[in-house]
Amino acid sequence: MTVVVTGAAGFLGSAVVRHLRARGDNVVAIDRRPVARRAGVVPIRADLCLDDPGVRAAVRRADAVIHLAGCPGIRDRLPDVERRRQRDNVDSTSALVAATPWQVPLVVASSSSVYGGARFGRASREGDPCHPLGGYAASKVRTEQVCRARLDAGAPVVVARPFTVIGEGQRPDMALSRWVDAIRLGRPLRVFGSLERTRDFTDVREVARALTALLGSTGVVNVGSGRPRTLGEAVDAVGSVLGVEPLVWIEPASADEVADTWADTSRLADLTGQVPQTDLVDAVERLVAAPALAAVG
Ligand code: NAD
Repeated sequence: MTVVVTGAAGFLGSAVVRHLRARGDNVVAIDRRPVARRAGVVPIRADLCLDDPGVRAAVRRADAVIHLAGCPGIRDRLPDVERRRQRDNVDSTSALVAATPWQVPLVVASSSSVYGGARFGRASREGDPCHPLGGYAASKVRTEQVCRARLDAGAPVVVARPFTVIGEGQRPDMALSRWVDAIRLGRPLRVFGSLERTRDFTDVREVARALTALLGSTGVVNVGSGRPRTLGEAVDAVGSVLGVEPLVWIEPASADEVADTWADTSRLADLTGQVPQTDLVDAVERLVAAPALAAVG
């Protein structure tokens, strides 16, 4: 089949493109940044917020659409960040949803940040009330609202809530990438809050597989492992892969930094028959190796 992937030049998008190609699907890869040319992938360089005829035609003809374009990151503090979050998370989704025929299976990336952390001493369930702690999370709540009419009508739309994704190609602003860079530069690792805080780290390859497997389902679905690890465990994984004892610098966490995240994975398991396992060390090894692979490849 032919699958349109938006945000295809990004961290999750490029992993989804690789996964779809490995399955033998054809891909139309949309991004406003350049997407690498490869067999079976038709790149379209376009901004989803501008009415692009190539994008419109691609989603009209697609067998399925996975929408990953967006403005990620809770720690973005640049002055225009709220405008970019509205534009690239909410408005881009409005435009894409409007252009996609109702019967075409669609997966839209929201985020686990809509929960405001695991607030009830248990894993976050899709039916829990949203409690966004900052501008990024609030923009994802609005992104989900864009999909509400289709969800309520039972159209094949999945609003996916990924939990901290790790692995090759991770964005440089994310914690594990920052820590790898810090060690390489001989600097301490900055950790926000404490080493006891937890994250439901989820392997990017398993996220790509889950997002693809969700095509054709309906509803809101957590994409996590259901097995939170402490930030201390993650620091140790980075240190062991790079063969150093990391120096850690604990800094106060900002108000939009949730204490703990934890996915209830029952719905994901029901719909796809699989739940990400996430081997922390393996994912960090691939993250560390990825730039070297790019250099030789
Ligand atoms: P990323 O920044 O690596 O990729 C996003 C891509 O979208 C970029 O290549 C960017 O150029 C493109 N883009 C943004 N706005 C666009 C527009 N208007 N038109 C065309 N292209 C546009 O981010 P990522 O980490 O791959 O995240 C992908 C999605 O998943 C985002 O919506 C993010 O909020 C969500 N998410 C990510 C994580 C994570 O851990 N990485 C967790 C939860 C949710």
